[in-house]
Amino acid sequence: MILKPKRARPFFGRHPWVLEGAVLRVDGTPADGDVVDLATHDGMFVARGLWNAASKLRVRLYAFDPATKLDAALWQSRLEAAIDLRRALGRNDPYGGTRLVNSEGDGLSGLIVDRYAEYLCVQVTGLAMSLRLESICESLQTLLTPRGILLRGAERGLSKLEGLHLPDRVVRGVAPTGPIFVTEHGLKFGIDLTEGQKTGFYLDQRDNRQAAAQLAQGRRVLDMFCYSGGFSVACAVQGSASSVLAVDSSLKATSMARANADLNGAKNVTVETADAFEKMQALQVAGEKYGLVILDPPKFARSRASLDDAVRAYHRINRLAVDLLEPGGVLVTCSCSGAVSREDFLMMLSGVAQRSGRSIQMLACRGAAADHPVNVNCLEGEYLKCVIGTIG
Ligand code: SAH
Repeated sequence: MILKPKRARPFFGRHPWVLEGAVLRVDGTPADGDVVDLATHDGMFVARGLWNAASKLRVRLYAFDPATKLDAALWQSRLEAAIDLRRALGRNDPYGGTRLVNSEGDGLSGLIVDRYAEYLCVQVTGLAMSLRLESICESLQTLLTPRGILLRGAERGLSKLEGLHLPDRVVRGVAPTGPIFVTEHGLKFGIDLTEGQKTGFYLDQRDNRQAAAQLAQGRRVLDMFCYSGGFSVACAVQGSASSVLAVDSSLKATSMARANADLNGAKNVTVETADAFEKMQALQVAGEKYGLVILDPPKFARSRASLDDAVRAYHRINRLAVDLLEPGGVLVTCSCSGAVSREDFLMMLSGVAQRSGRSIQMLACRGAAADHPVNVNCLEGEYLKCVIGTIG
């Protein structure tokens, strides 16, 4: 695959995505998933990757020297390196949950593997990886001997972008018949991985839940977008919050949050099924005040195109949260929209401080837990922001 003149620099910088616009021409007729070499317009080798004509992301790169073959041995060695890294991070608790493979962050663009105790969940976001799924699962089985390997469909939209149609299925072993349990910093959480439910658990927030809990002592906590209650349980049990109100619009989420609070003996957690915007407005009208508010909404921006709308939505919920905080209260505010940069997010908060007439003192600006490594040559992988601040 020959690059247009002056388009090779990102790939000398090891960026793993070759977009269709960079392609000058293709010598030969690669099928989707085939190995292709990337060369400059004057014939110099740049990198080796996998082709997908159906995607704007025409080639994903996996090697930057001509000697490296893209074969089963390479995938296995990348998987081994990824697993070794988690071991080095102390993330090998057999009862815990860990992201074992984080796509570009582990040199395996298009592949995500999460371990939930004895089960592995594989998510494929690139067509070329889907064609190599059998050998990848074979390696995972050999390296980790899980009880089951479950394939989970990629996020909505992503599969369309890649021309990828992968139904959920059990690839190896068995699926759990009921909820399974993982421990996180000594707390226990139930996760529903049974087919048709496949909700999983947000592993990226593990350490941010602890950071929030450390500031929860004696405070009234409001956990908006609580999902299965990760922040709520940590604040109630380990943070000794005086009370926790956990809110999510999904009934499935709030029933999990209830169950997880009970599982950990957190008696002062109230769980409510409601829309976050409406609930915060209602709390404001009722004159309620909190000492700690957590905001962990779903992705508001799916692309740069929806950035303005997303920033407005972040502004709205953060403004509502700030208005609910007593002076000296703590805001833990997250964004998992990759399209919203850290700078955009901080600018939004600056706007909230101005409009509300309150000061926001930033205590920490955090990201995903370390088992979600980011390739510095592909900062698109750095999606999670978690800003902790006190409100004056
Ligand atoms: N904080 C959670 C993860 C949150 S994921 C954790 O630590 O595990 C985002 C959640 O927002 C989902 O559970 C989703 O059901 C919920 N959600 C989406 N739109 C919402 C809305 N308008 N109001 C309340 N909850 C919403």
